[in-house]
Parts: sequence; C-alpha cells; structure tokens
Amino acid sequence: MLTRAAEYLLAGLKTPEWTQVHRWRYAFPTSPLINTCLKANTPQPLVCCGDWCGGNLVAGAMQSGISAAEQINQQMSQQLLPRNSFLDKLAATKQ
Ligand SMILES: Cc1cc2nc3c(=O)[nH]c(=O)nc-3n(C[C@H](O)[C@H](O)[C@H](O)COP(=O)(O)OP(=O)(O)OC[C@H]3O[C@@H](n4cnc5c(N)ncnc54)[C@H](O)[C@@H]3O)c2cc1C
Repeated sequence: MLTRAAEYLLAGLKTPEWTQVHRWRYAFPTSPLINTCLKANTPQPLVCCGDWCGGNLVAGAMQSGISAAEQINQQMSQQLLPRNSFLDKLAATKQ
C-alpha cells in the first residue's frame, strides 16, 4: 500500500519514519447478502451496495462498490469498465 501510495501521491510515503497498524473489528453485518450489489429493474439505474453485500468486511464493501459502478455503467452506456482496475493493480502488486 505504501509503495502504491508513494507512486501516486508522494514519494516519501514509501519510507515512513514510523508506522503503526491498528486493526478494528467494526464491519460485521450479521446477515450479509450473497449478491455483491442490489439493482432494481427500472429505466434509471438504482443500485445499492455496501459492506452488507457479498461479504461482511471492508474488502467486501469495496468489491460491492465496484460491482455497483459496473452495473450503473452498463445501464447508462452499456460499456464495461476498463480492466486495468484498482483490484488488478492490487493483484499485480502481490506477485
Ligand atoms: C473506526 C472504524 C474502523 C474500521 N476498521 C475496519 C477494519 O479494519 N476492517 C474492516 O473490515 N472494516 C472496518 N471498519 C468498517 C468499514 O469501514 C465498513 O465496513 C465500510 O466502510 C462500509 O462501507 P460502506 O460503503 O458500506 O459504507 P460507508 O463507508 O459507511 O459509506 C457510506 C457513505 O454514504 C454516505 N452517506 C450516508 N448518508 C448519505 C446521504 N443521505 N446522502 C449521501 N451520502 C450519504 C456517507 O457519508 C458515507 O460516505 C471500520 C469502521 C470504523 C468506523
């Protein structure tokens, strides 16, 4: 994350003088949906997303947001989002 942040924001972020990881446990919807987002069959896009869709952690919330964006984009202009997405970059970083 720091490498990416340094690449996009500020080079110095790659080598911080001090770091601390603080983990929270606040994302626990008790009955999350299997679907990554909810869409209504209406002429105008109506899509719901959040950490209660497709999982119950912040990563699920992010995936849900991307899924909702793809749905809206398809309904608005029938175009797929570019494949060189944030998640692709994240996966490439792991390799
Ligand atoms: C302090 C803290 C630490 C956390 N740490 C972790 C963690 O380490 N790991 C983890 O998995 N989860 C963590 N979570 C939970 C995680 O942040 C949530 O699961 C996630 O952000 C939910 O994403 P979301 O998009 O569903 O909702 P949100 O991130 O809450 O986004 C909802 C958005 O809707 C906006 N909004 C609300 N009402 C309106 C309105 N009427 N009009 C327009 N906009 C509106 C809000 O301003 C907000 O930007 C943490 C939460 C907190 C509070």
